Amino acid sequence: MNPEPENQSMDIVASLRALVGPVAVLDAAELAARPAGVWRSDPLQAAALVRPADTSEVAAVLRWCHAHRVAVVPQGGLTGLVHGADAAPDQVILSLERMRTIELIDPVQRVARVQAGVPLQALQEAAAAQALAFPLDLGARGTATLGGNAATNAGGNRVIRYGMMREMVLGLEVVLADGTVVDALNALIKNNAGYDLRQIFVGSEGTLGVITRLVLRLREQPRSRQMAFVAFDRFDAVAAFLKRIDRDLGGSLSAFEVMWQSYYRLVTTAPAPGRPPLPQHHAYYALIESQGAHAEADAARFGAALESALEARLVADAAVAQSESDCAAFWGLRDDVGQALRGGVPLLFDVSLPIAEMERYAAELEAALAAALAEHRLWIFGHLGDGNLHVIVQVPPQAGPAARPRVESCVYGPLAAYRGSVSAEHGIGLEKKPWLHLSRNAAEIALMRTLKSALDPLGLLNPGKVL
Ligand code: ZN
Repeated sequence: MNPEPENQSMDIVASLRALVGPVAVLDAAELAARPAGVWRSDPLQAAALVRPADTSEVAAVLRWCHAHRVAVVPQGGLTGLVHGADAAPDQVILSLERMRTIELIDPVQRVARVQAGVPLQALQEAAAAQALAFPLDLGARGTATLGGNAATNAGGNRVIRYGMMREMVLGLEVVLADGTVVDALNALIKNNAGYDLRQIFVGSEGTLGVITRLVLRLREQPRSRQMAFVAFDRFDAVAAFLKRIDRDLGGSLSAFEVMWQSYYRLVTTAPAPGRPPLPQHHAYYALIESQGAHAEADAARFGAALESALEARLVADAAVAQSESDCAAFWGLRDDVGQALRGGVPLLFDVSLPIAEMERYAAELEAALAAALAEHRLWIFGHLGDGNLHVIVQVPPQAGPAARPRVESCVYGPLAAYRGSVSAEHGIGLEKKPWLHLSRNAAEIALMRTLKSALDPLGLLNPGKVL
């Protein structure tokens, strides 16, 4: 006869406490005091939450769970947006929150070695203290962890210059479902000795192994930056300007963030705190940033590039940041996504498609939403330089989450025709699993399943996510 579920979870807690010590294990009642995510109000639920202190404890926990067929959900900073770290009452949460040591910053090799629970911002600051930069950057930098950034292949604001997290991970240490520790802590930029094992785990959302340590590539710290807000009256001018400014800046373009008019108005109209750097009647706005090494020469080149785009009538208007506080205010507008919370329920999406198709996609989306929903608001913005748009559809409070499936059809449906992606940078988690087939074909999904069953034959790691 099976034990009662409650007894079973008490056994889990007691067994894990015996393995890693009492303070490292929270029981179901204790962990219910924590929210399920940074932007969520529902409580965490699981049989236990384990916080190992190091890799050997992670391995011990996974070995025990493997032997007892207990499913494990790895968690980082819980800033994800696709329910990729949700757990069930009979599962164990494995939190990397106590593994927060920056083990090494090597200024010659320009690498850092860190434990997976180090927050992104902590590494950015430690690198800056040595005149280096870790260029991954995103709004949740203070909370998101490097292990989570790697497990989800985070993107963010400077992908156009430095790539996604995938491009910054040189090596990693990972613990497999059965507790085997794989040290693949490569610190070389070039290493073609066989299969690239790290990339199997980057972006796997905790379904193939638990990342415990990372070797990350650092860059020289930029010593100057220039920013501008620019306005456009036509979409083809946005695309043409991206090409032109990237060429004219000689590789220093570090952000190209675009806002459709409605989003610009949302974040520059009271009660939003932001003020409009440019009049609000243009069709599109872009925030552009350039990072260089020689403030005066860089500013002159940046100004000349903008000037020539204005003369060519690609750009309708431009405002150049005159200070670091201007730069912060410009980024503040871009990041003030919270304004979409006012007056309804915001449904947030993250899609990729070829830049040349974006105008048509936006028009199709607008038409589809108008046909599907009586009342809604639509805002489009995002990392256009990377082909990545964020779409927010706000529905009335009474429509709530029930409207989501209809909105999803409108947002995702047209993407297949463009070979776009239902997830540019947020991952699949639980939320986008029904739509994976739009962006990945049957042979690709079959190969993913082959990998999953090879690495986690019992299906114990973050079950039900992605596939
Ligand atoms: Zn983004």
